[in-house]
Amino acid sequence: MKVCVLAGDGIGPEITAEALRVLEALRSDGLKIEFEHALLGGGAVDATGDPYPEATSKLAREADAILLGAVGGPKWDTLPREQRPERGLLRIRAELGVFANLRPAILYPELANASSLKPEIVSGLDILIVRELTGDIYFGQPRGIEVRDTPWGEQRVGWNTMIYAEEEIRRIGRVAFEAARKRSKRLCSVDKMNVLECTQLWREVITDMAKDYPDVELSHMLVDNAAMQLVKAPKQFDVVVTGNMFGDILSDEASMLTGSIGMLPSASLDANNKGLYEPSHGSAPDIAGKGVANPLATILSAAMMLRYSFGDEASAVRIENAVRKVLAQGYRTGDIFEPGTTRVGTKQMGDAVLAAL
Ligand code: NAD
Repeated sequence: MKVCVLAGDGIGPEITAEALRVLEALRSDGLKIEFEHALLGGGAVDATGDPYPEATSKLAREADAILLGAVGGPKWDTLPREQRPERGLLRIRAELGVFANLRPAILYPELANASSLKPEIVSGLDILIVRELTGDIYFGQPRGIEVRDTPWGEQRVGWNTMIYAEEEIRRIGRVAFEAARKRSKRLCSVDKMNVLECTQLWREVITDMAKDYPDVELSHMLVDNAAMQLVKAPKQFDVVVTGNMFGDILSDEASMLTGSIGMLPSASLDANNKGLYEPSHGSAPDIAGKGVANPLATILSAAMMLRYSFGDEASAVRIENAVRKVLAQGYRTGDIFEPGTTRVGTKQMGDAVLAAL
């Protein structure tokens, strides 16, 4: 199994190093895995002028899976849009066709106090958000900013296109129905069909698919209500499926219910389960280089990689159990620290996971 490692910027290299130590420990136990490193994001801009250079693209296309840290930082914020690190991320997702973004939001019992919501509302929370990742208004054409005649005179207007083809909806729907099947068999599809034709089609296609999954209970919710319900009664949800833009917002909201952005992994899969695995958070420039970042989201992303791309459920569960164990032992990085627990840095957290493994 060949893994392309893209450590990226900011805390990316620090957290990726810990995930690699965990995978290397499994390798010494017999896991057949090889790593190749390449540049993505700001580091790639500095070295080549391109946030997603051809050499990286080649390695990523040849690999069985990609493990990514995070990209971006203030140093590159003033560059033209095409050269920004985040553009590299959009390009690699689009090129690899990883259209299904799986973002679990799990509240570990030991971290119940880290949530901004009352413990009784969030304790035991275990949601999976399935977000479409390569379509919608983020990629739709035409788009742009140009001077036009408007009711307020000639001035600049900005516009984007929200667009989904039926098959694009169907393939993300399949991923979501299948995931619901493996969990509590409940799927909530989120749209804005009362206002947007694009999402009216979304609802029609998802509703039509339900007949192929009679064992899954399908419900629909408008996105504004979903945003409200997520903070009012989040445990009503199990698997949620939605488009790229609504999914972007709702998955960040869901992740913060757990109070710990540093804990949440993600997987982005193509039709053959080749995947891009990365923590849900960004490059955290404010703490980069200090050795204090939480590596657990990246370590848990490596577990998702073993589960979804390599079909190695046993190794995935081994890593997840090791993470549960270090939390039970009281180890905490700064982002999840509370009095009475043991504050550790990035590397010490990695050491604790290795010891638990
Ligand atoms: P961020 O997720 O990087 O940071 C938000 C806050 O969470 C910061 O206070 C940070 O210190 C903290 N944090 C994040 N990850 C942490 C961890 N593992 N351990 C401890 N604390 C952690 O979001 P931001 O500040 O909005 O963005 C910073 C940069 O990251 C920007 O350049 C942005 O474009 C980029 N970004 C990249 C990705 C990605 O690579 N997938 C995603 C989001 C943002």
